[in-house]
Amino acid sequence: MSDVATTQISLFDARDATSVPTVRHSRRARRLSVRVFPGGRVEVVVPPRTPERTVREFLELHQDWIEARRQHAQRDRPPPPAFPPAAIELPAFCESWSLRAVPGPGRVRLAQVAAGELEHRGEPAGRALRPMLRAWVRARCVAQLGPWLDALARETGLCYARMAIRRQRTRWGSCSTRGTISLNASLAFQRPAVVRYLLLHELAHTRHMNHAAGFWRLVAQHEPGWRSLDRELTGGWRHVPHWMFDDGD
Ligand SMILES: [Zn+2]
Repeated sequence: MSDVATTQISLFDARDATSVPTVRHSRRARRLSVRVFPGGRVEVVVPPRTPERTVREFLELHQDWIEARRQHAQRDRPPPPAFPPAAIELPAFCESWSLRAVPGPGRVRLAQVAAGELEHRGEPAGRALRPMLRAWVRARCVAQLGPWLDALARETGLCYARMAIRRQRTRWGSCSTRGTISLNASLAFQRPAVVRYLLLHELAHTRHMNHAAGFWRLVAQHEPGWRSLDRELTGGWRHVPHWMFDDGD
C-alpha cells in the first residue's frame, strides 16, 4: 500500500469526533473523493500534493451531502451486541444452547443443566463469565472435533498424532511436523461443510507440509468444492461472537 499518514481538518463540529473528516493521501487517487462509513466516520481521499485549501473547499462544497449521509449512517448504526447473550449457536455441531441467568450470591459459575441449556449462577455476570464461556466453547470443540477428526482420518487414510484446540485471532488451524493438528475454537461458529474442509486441509498437511500443487490435489480428491469453502472460511470471523475475544468494559 502506498497510502501515507492521515491528517485531520477541523471544519466540522469539533465536539463530535466522528464529524471531523480524516484526510487520507493516496498515491493512486486521481481526484478527491469522500466516504461516510457505518457509524458516521468521514474520510476524504486526496491525490498526492493536494493543497489543504483545495481539500477544505471540496469539503465545504459537499458539506450538506456529507452531513446528511453522516446522520443517516449514525441512525443505522446497529446497537452494541448484548452480553450475556440469551442463546449461543454452534452451527458446526448443529447445536443451539440457551443461556439463563440465575442471580445469587457467590462467584460466577457456568453449568450445563440439560442438553442445549446453560445457566450462569452467582454475582451478576461481569467479566468473569466471558472466559468461562470461552472455556465452554473450547470443551465443546474437544468433544466434537476430536471424533470428527478421527472419522475423517479413517475415511481418508491420513494419520495425525494429536489434536489441540486453541483460541487464535488469525488462523483457523495448523499442522506441526510432529503431526499435531491445532484447531481454532472459533470453528464452532462455522458451517459444518466449512469445518470439514478445514479438518481435511490440516490432515492433508500431514502428507504435504506446504501449499504446493500436490497438497491441493490431495485436498481436492476429498473435497472438490474446497475453493469456495476456503473463501468462506476466510470471511468466517464475522460469525464469531465478540465475547470470544473481547473482555468488555
Ligand atoms: Zn494450510
